[in-house]
Amino acid sequence: MDIQARLLQHMGPAMVDLVRLCAWLVVLMLIFVPLERIWPVRRQKLLRKSFGTDLAYYFLSGILPKLILVVPLSFVAAVVHRVSVDGLYPVMAELPFGVRLAAAMIVGETGFYWGHRWSHRIPWLWRFHAVHHSAEELDWLVGSRAHPVDMVFTRLCGMAPMYVLGLAQPMGNSVDLVPVLVTLLGTIWGFFVHSNVLWRLGWLERVIASPAFHHWHHTNDGPEYLDKNFAPMLPWVDQVFGTLYLPKGKWPAKYGTDTVVAKGMGGQLIGPFS
Ligand SMILES: [Zn+2]
Ligand SMILES: [Zn+2]
Repeated sequence: MDIQARLLQHMGPAMVDLVRLCAWLVVLMLIFVPLERIWPVRRQKLLRKSFGTDLAYYFLSGILPKLILVVPLSFVAAVVHRVSVDGLYPVMAELPFGVRLAAAMIVGETGFYWGHRWSHRIPWLWRFHAVHHSAEELDWLVGSRAHPVDMVFTRLCGMAPMYVLGLAQPMGNSVDLVPVLVTLLGTIWGFFVHSNVLWRLGWLERVIASPAFHHWHHTNDGPEYLDKNFAPMLPWVDQVFGTLYLPKGKWPAKYGTDTVVAKGMGGQLIGPFS
């Protein structure tokens, strides 16, 4: 095969990814831009500081994890294949789809919760995760701002237990819909919880994450408010592990982190390694 044909072969999937991400971006803007104008937590410009950087992160996080996660997840699958309890995989495969999906969501959420909590506790992981917390204005697009190491680590913490327990499993040549749906739902919810939208969900806020729940995770109001609300979608997981903070009707006064993080994307990507 000559070089041109090889290039074309690789460009095809990359172009499909790019078109897919552009289409999603239009859909997300159509949903969140009006919501943030009608019900804003605080008035801020659409093209706020760092909007361009976060847009670049949007494309990076849309493409990179898929490519990087293949390696560690294949490793997990290979290890699981050797050590898995006899008969666990077939038993899990027999579960009704809805049960397997719900169980995978809870297991994935718990894995992600701990990955996220360790990212705050372990200094070496925090260097990468601080990039996400450097946002001083929150809106839906901030959900994209994450260092690739941070993104891959927390996703792996969420995905690996699903594979270990057989809740997500490779099924011949077909794609297992469970991890696909869990990831898709988590991604969409990630945009919602970062959005600058005033909605409070009453009692439901302790069941499913709202913007207020995750905004409190981003607060920089003082040390007593830090390290709360680590779960991506299910606040009761925080309740179980003692880190829930969700005062009625109150919002953080300011966001961000005291950790020094570079302003530009290049510095943010290289900085944590130095
Ligand atoms: Zn965090
Ligand atoms: Zn966040």
